[in-house]
Amino acid sequence: MLFVLGLAACGSNDSPDDRAAAGQGAGAGAGASRCGDHAWCDTGKSAAARAELLVAAMSLAQKIDYLAGDDPASAASCEPYCGIVNGIPELDIPPIRMNDGPVGVRGGPATALPIPLALAATFDPALAHETGAVVGNETRLKGNDLVHAPVADLVRNPLAGRTFETFGEDPLLATRFTVEWTKGLQSEGVLANVKHYLMNTQEGIGGIPPLVAAVGGRSLVNVVIDERTLREIYLPPYEFAVKEADVASMMCAYNLLNGVPACSSPFLLQQLYEEWGFDGFLVTDYYFAQKDTVQTANTGAVIEMPFALFYQQPLLQLAVQSGQVEEATLDDHLKAIFRTLFRFGFFDRAAYERDESRIDQQAHAEVARRTVEQGSVLLRNEGVLPLRDEVKRIAVIGLSATERPTGGGSSFVTPFRFKTPLEGIQERAGDGVEVTYTEGRDLQAAAEAAAQADVAIVFANALATEGVDKFCLALDCTLADLPDSLLLNTLPTGSDVLNLALDPILSQSPIAETLEQAFAPILLGGQPLPVSHRNQDALIRAVADANAQTVVVLQTGGPVLTPWRDEVDAILEIWFAGQEVAPGLAAILFGDTDPGGRLPVSFPINETDTPVAGDPARYPGLANQAQHSEGVFIGYRWHDENQIAPAYPFGHGLSYTTFAFEALRVTTQADGTLQVQARVTNTGARAGWAVPQLYVGLPEPSEAVAQPPAALKGFGKYWLQPGETRVLQFDLSHRDLSYWDTGQSDWVVAPGCYHILLGHSSRDLPLQAEQAVNGGSCS
Ligand code: BGC
Repeated sequence: MLFVLGLAACGSNDSPDDRAAAGQGAGAGAGASRCGDHAWCDTGKSAAARAELLVAAMSLAQKIDYLAGDDPASAASCEPYCGIVNGIPELDIPPIRMNDGPVGVRGGPATALPIPLALAATFDPALAHETGAVVGNETRLKGNDLVHAPVADLVRNPLAGRTFETFGEDPLLATRFTVEWTKGLQSEGVLANVKHYLMNTQEGIGGIPPLVAAVGGRSLVNVVIDERTLREIYLPPYEFAVKEADVASMMCAYNLLNGVPACSSPFLLQQLYEEWGFDGFLVTDYYFAQKDTVQTANTGAVIEMPFALFYQQPLLQLAVQSGQVEEATLDDHLKAIFRTLFRFGFFDRAAYERDESRIDQQAHAEVARRTVEQGSVLLRNEGVLPLRDEVKRIAVIGLSATERPTGGGSSFVTPFRFKTPLEGIQERAGDGVEVTYTEGRDLQAAAEAAAQADVAIVFANALATEGVDKFCLALDCTLADLPDSLLLNTLPTGSDVLNLALDPILSQSPIAETLEQAFAPILLGGQPLPVSHRNQDALIRAVADANAQTVVVLQTGGPVLTPWRDEVDAILEIWFAGQEVAPGLAAILFGDTDPGGRLPVSFPINETDTPVAGDPARYPGLANQAQHSEGVFIGYRWHDENQIAPAYPFGHGLSYTTFAFEALRVTTQADGTLQVQARVTNTGARAGWAVPQLYVGLPEPSEAVAQPPAALKGFGKYWLQPGETRVLQFDLSHRDLSYWDTGQSDWVVAPGCYHILLGHSSRDLPLQAEQAVNGGSCS
């Protein structure tokens, strides 16, 4: 497991008294109660006892009322919330007001944070805690109680539209970030709703997002996957959100899992409640996640959002009257909601009032800026960065130097403030340096501008949005880039045919324009649909041809292809960096700080290098069945197992200084677990971020249990002065050393030889050792 994770204070302006009054976390009870004088308002009683009393006082109609949202339209504007469960005034039950999301709060301006993928690239979970606290604080000061975040899904397919909302492709990294983000958010007295449980790993291809995807759409696709893969790869972020962060609620996903809708999957529900001890409640994803009344009421979802479709009064009343659903089952659902609400002091405080003037915008902007600095990944640097004092003429090139590229969909945030990257460079460069700007539509003009400068900085971006997957991994990508085979191979179901039939009709009719206009603000942050073809690869090449000192700044929501990578001097991936991109980027370019980011996702060389490429059965799925037959081999596990070299591997990221690792020692503890020690030293002339990463290759107990050559088992992040050494210690638990044995239905530590690998990235591991474990041998 991971060691040394100090949790920094959050950027909140509230006094401790304010926070207590706001009813924070478990057991908080100060402030103006809105509970009345009912028996369940006695704060001396346990949350469970209070929930029992409350549910016993409710009529069937009242119970049904509280099991669904009440405002289907609110999700579009999020003003003043993105969804609400109305209160029940006769019993003084308050409404639950919900907001989105993972990149910041919606509904009017908020701190637009770097995307979660950029946050994961910091490799610093303490920043996730601070970020969660920022979102929690702003949610509360916008008068909301619950946030649909964080996203704990993993990147299986880098084309997936919501890659940018995730914490990357590795379960350990995603787990640490999910846990700390959740803790940070809930420390502000706001309920986290970790999502999307489980396997919302694709949006689908084509169609009119988010209504219909033509093929493999998220609300129709059935994810076919084995239990070991679920347990080892996809479930841990959710598992530890429950076990370590005591998360209040979970959003069940649109898709089906092994033939059953995720919102009513007995497998998923058993994990949650029986194995992990979840004491919170389930909320459905919006509109299409819940698929029926009876099965869902009996097994799964507790609150249907954003309005009662299957949980309408007549339907649930009938289900109860006909004996298909026991009223006691509904009682259990309500008790789960109320236990959680009592635990959070929800009844025992005043409603959060919308008062955005109390948001400490400056403190929150600082968290965003630090995340830009620490999450930007220097992929390549032949020496041009940091920019030297002798640089007197800088040519900034590319449209996205003056834009704010960001991910579209329900996580779109309107920033409190924004300066363009170009402005950031101009301000930091100061009067003595000439900064020119060229849009780059005209390659000749761009090359001329580059030729006249000491350094050329060319900006490129790639759009990404919820509701539809990317068509390809190239920077410039339109429907035309989608291989015909992918669409044609994947047609046959009725729903697909319907969607495909609808697609051209909708997209050619006046409705299409209306729909696009309606959704453009939330899908693409107001950017024009469809994705414009900018010829960015050619632009980069033209600039690099004209000036050897060319820096490429990428603003993307996930991996992209970099066919020109060996032709440019430096590449800096800053992701969708949010409102503080200007100061954060300038600080890195000019060397005021060290680029702290490491890749949370592999950057492939070719389109065909991903686990799903070229296999429509895997993606987007045939007849809506997406076979996850690659098993545990996603991300770098896929690259390593199949010996496919990445362009830039998971964990990669350069610093302006250098680090050396030494003195690896592996000790077997009395209980059979392992302790790994080593030292890392800053061997360069500047202070910088060291990000030591520990990987373990597990033995294969049988042919059926193939193991990746290396899996991340620990990491750290340290600011080291020149010459400074840090002693590292990783304690590997039984769980860290085990695999999921499907036959035994348990975690098992296989006897054998374990490979211990420590270093800079998944492909640069200078320290290596072997250790026999559990009676095995290394020979
Ligand atoms: C998304 C969720 C989001 C919800 C409410 C859905 O389309 O999948 O992630 O929280 O909308 O905006």
